[in-house]
Amino acid sequence: MDKQYFIQAETILNSLGDILSQKENVIVEKLLCTGADSEELHRQARIRRRQLVGDRVFVRGSLEYSNVCTNNCSFCGMAKSNQNLQRYRLSFDEMTKSINLLKDMRVSQLHLVGGEDKDINIDTIGKIVSYATDRNIAVTLVLGELKPDDYIYLYKAGARRYILKFETSNAETYSNLKGRKNLIERLAHLFYLREIGYKIGTGIIAGLPTTSLRDLARDLLLLQRLAPDMASVSVFSPNGESALKDEPPGSKDMALNFLSLMRLSLEYTPIITCSSSFGPNGQIEALQAGANLMSVHITPYPFSDKFSMYTSVNRTLTQYNYIQLCSEKVGLKVAEYV
Ligand code: SF4
Repeated sequence: MDKQYFIQAETILNSLGDILSQKENVIVEKLLCTGADSEELHRQARIRRRQLVGDRVFVRGSLEYSNVCTNNCSFCGMAKSNQNLQRYRLSFDEMTKSINLLKDMRVSQLHLVGGEDKDINIDTIGKIVSYATDRNIAVTLVLGELKPDDYIYLYKAGARRYILKFETSNAETYSNLKGRKNLIERLAHLFYLREIGYKIGTGIIAGLPTTSLRDLARDLLLLQRLAPDMASVSVFSPNGESALKDEPPGSKDMALNFLSLMRLSLEYTPIITCSSSFGPNGQIEALQAGANLMSVHITPYPFSDKFSMYTSVNRTLTQYNYIQLCSEKVGLKVAEYV
């Protein structure tokens, strides 16, 4: 990958310090707000969502095609070091069966997710992308960092969105939590993906151990600079089989405030995910805080129980009628996401 993407990433990261010194206090005050102040923040986020995309919830079908991963992120139950997890890669036929379910549900966006697998069979993934797009199902990929040529190959096969979370804007923490990986490189991949033509998605995990309020404020500023097409915040929830299993969970309320701040400050980001890490009731709160994208899980059983980054018990597997119920409850309409 060309050096220019790394320079772009480094320049943006270096520019955050000055903005942070001006804006940190205001952002932190909003992150910590509670009661009526928090409700007002969420109300403003809902107004902004209405202005930007209307009172709609978009739906995508999430297919977790593999839990094989070469990395060792300390917050993740699928880290390579977890010997207890039974690994799987879905076959082409298993994946097409799941994709056909989307047609029946009239869901027109496939969200194809996998661990970062150095032995990934890119041809099979390309065939799956083409299988979906031939049936008018758009494809978002979440496969971690790939080789530059593989991004291009999958774009040519028909994929148009790619999600690569940066998790935290604190470069040292990023490296510590992600097995010595490099934040600048992560951002460089995002810039490269955008250059190819992908719409890019990224996001953070709120409440990761050793991160501070200052880090969260910087996360928001970095998201503003990246201006992604899709943004997300997950709440840290210690996976019982991860290296961080004994750490306390993140604050859901603070993550909800962060979500509203994203909605209010990311004017070029129409899509904000309603993460399943909020839990069933929390997802309704996330919609109330400004989110507008939910996933229906189409990974076949028993594989669906073996794909878990955060909490390994009581995993929320969202069904389509639940999305309809949540949406109706908060006065939103389920809409097609293409
Ligand atoms: S977060 Fe992603 S890259 Fe990291 S260990 Fe988990 S599946 Fe692998």
